[in-house]
Amino acid sequence: MLRMASVQSDVFAKSLRCDYKQSDLLTYGGGQGGVPGELDKVCAASVQDLMATIAKLDSNGVQVVAEAEPAGPPAPSPAPPVHSSTDEPRADPNEDWCAVCMDGGELVCCDRCPKVFHQYCHIPTVDKLPDEADAWQCLLCVNFAELPAAPGDELPPPGGGLPPRQQRLVERLTLELYCQYEASLPFREAAQCGAAPRPMCLDAMRVKLQPRSPQRYTHVAQFVADARLLFRNAYAYNPPDSSIYKDAKRLEEFFDAQLLKWLPEYAYWSGEGEPPAKRPRL
Ligand SMILES: [Zn+2]
Ligand SMILES: [Zn+2]
Repeated sequence: MLRMASVQSDVFAKSLRCDYKQSDLLTYGGGQGGVPGELDKVCAASVQDLMATIAKLDSNGVQVVAEAEPAGPPAPSPAPPVHSSTDEPRADPNEDWCAVCMDGGELVCCDRCPKVFHQYCHIPTVDKLPDEADAWQCLLCVNFAELPAAPGDELPPPGGGLPPRQQRLVERLTLELYCQYEASLPFREAAQCGAAPRPMCLDAMRVKLQPRSPQRYTHVAQFVADARLLFRNAYAYNPPDSSIYKDAKRLEEFFDAQLLKWLPEYAYWSGEGEPPAKRPRL
């Protein structure tokens, strides 16, 4: 399923609401003396709504409740009751912001969870938009334990790379890391992670997930080793009380929890030396 869920549409809805109230008030007040003041008050309320929307951007998509109006002279009289379609409860269960970049725009909505994604933010990239009527499921909603085994699942593809099942698993783990939005922010781009002699960042790992990339992963251990390198760099080049260091700790703990779930033989492996021997799948 696809939709336009964006700041623009939200802002547009709110400005419409302001217009609606103005016309409503004119009907109630008949254009008499007190109306302009009432209009100002109602529009101020709408501006406050607008500010709450903008604040939502700044707080990474976390719902922000508009602060109470600062204490001031009491309002001369309550505004007449107005009704607006935007006051109705939301029927849309999906979030407003892309789970990876926390921005709006044209987003693909998961039909199984509240998450929405830009086509290029989801891993793997959503090449073709699903039809309006088609259900679409994000990779976070795939339960690998329930996936029936397909022939060739455990074999590398003819052109090289990871076997399909492992490819999906490392894509899932990478998407999970990006969706830890605040903790992953310092580790996304090469420019942020460039101080170490062997820099590593999430975007570089994402490139190696592309089946056509010359540096594509051919073994899960390479993927886990890159993630460990990213975390080691963060610990080596940042003081333990820095926010980057703490974010790395949080993200690595989360990463190990995900490994325990999906690739338990790699949980807590340092990423250096011999990769762990494969244990039977739990
Ligand atoms: Zn996005
Ligand atoms: Zn989902």
